[in-house]
Amino acid sequence: MTAHPDLTGTSDDLREMVREFAAARIAPLVAELDETERFPSEIYQQMGGLGLFGITIDEDDGGAGGTVADYITVMEELSYGYASVADQCGLVELVASLLAAHGTPDQREQYLPGLLAGTLRCSYALTEAGAGSDLGGVATTARRDGDDWILNGEKVFIHNAPVADFAMVLAVTDASKRKRGGMSMFLVDVDQPGVERAYTEHKMGQRASPVGGFVFRDVRLPATALLGAEGTGFGAVLSVLEKGRLGIGALANGITRSAVDTARDYAVGRRQFGQPIGAFQAVSFTLADMATEYQAARLLLESGAARLDAGQEAGVACSMAKLFASETAVRTTGHAVQILGGAGYIRGVPAERLYRDARVTTIYEGTSEVQRLIISRDLLGRLA
Ligand SMILES: Cc1cc2nc3c(=O)[nH]c(=O)nc-3n(C[C@H](O)[C@H](O)[C@H](O)COP(=O)(O)OP(=O)(O)OC[C@H]3O[C@@H](n4cnc5c(N)ncnc54)[C@H](O)[C@@H]3O)c2cc1C
Repeated sequence: MTAHPDLTGTSDDLREMVREFAAARIAPLVAELDETERFPSEIYQQMGGLGLFGITIDEDDGGAGGTVADYITVMEELSYGYASVADQCGLVELVASLLAAHGTPDQREQYLPGLLAGTLRCSYALTEAGAGSDLGGVATTARRDGDDWILNGEKVFIHNAPVADFAMVLAVTDASKRKRGGMSMFLVDVDQPGVERAYTEHKMGQRASPVGGFVFRDVRLPATALLGAEGTGFGAVLSVLEKGRLGIGALANGITRSAVDTARDYAVGRRQFGQPIGAFQAVSFTLADMATEYQAARLLLESGAARLDAGQEAGVACSMAKLFASETAVRTTGHAVQILGGAGYIRGVPAERLYRDARVTTIYEGTSEVQRLIISRDLLGRLA
């Protein structure tokens, strides 16, 4: 299916470049990556070389100097190739955005060039066993020791924990204030003493973006490890939330587009009762609904991106876009499996993988319920 023409001005050249990259470099490896769960090092480096990391980061900081509209286009096209690869683009975008906005010149120089070139790997470590949707429950602490900080705690479900060079870690620095100025963000070299990569999860889908845990035991950090001012960590998280949600929404929509194409091709080629199954209205109308929902999600994503690019309030627009795009991905990949019949249920078939890859999009970067909370509070205020 042709992607919806972009109303926000993203260049066709950018879209075409990423689409060709996804077709030539990502698609041939997808089945193997899904099966082996290995980190796609070669694709990661190629993405850095092509300038696909740090789309919205200023050129002065080594980024592409693009818009959020460009970013969602890149995310969708990469994800059309394979969502696990797009995941890396989204992760670098968030970490690089925070470094560019809050990092000292030394911090930017230390991390940004390698990160954007695809030679450094990062993690963004917020979640803990007791702190998922509610980051107020973060129990990892950083206490001062002279000029240094001592970090203790445990993070779970962290992208790239098994393979990262450094992590951005959210920790409590003033327990009396917590989310209101008591949390800080630290840049942590994860190969240093006291840091343990606790385990690697085996996930349902998106299996080539490794997820695992970190344990920090009396990790000594220099004063220069603090990102921004003390107490600004939670604000930093909020500052990239909307862009992050659009990124995952776009990733979900890349999965949807792939599901539409997979199901359409099958509906044209598969014959039953003497005709292509696409000639049965039950199948063709399902495809029509899938394609329509893809376009609707795309427009919601563009609307959120346009607001962010114009510097307008975008919280509700981005929540709506993420909610709809991710729920659409889950629904449409289910339809794709159904249209393929038994062939859609076999391990390794694209429709089956897309179904698994889509599932987490309603969970990470804010669950669907959290998005509904944001949208409904805007409608109703806080009634309780
Ligand atoms: C594959 C994967 C990769 C991830 N990568 C990262 C990463 O790189 N870095 C990182 O920090 N985290 C990461 N996470 C964690 C992710 O952000 C959390 O899983 C997510 O925020 C949900 O938290 P939780 O799993 O603790 O669920 P919970 O918050 O415990 O929620 C459980 C259920 O309760 C619902 N719920 C919770 N609160 C409310 C409420 N107020 N109203 C209504 N319903 C509610 C939720 O919607 C959900 O359905 C990742 C997770 C996964 C699965």
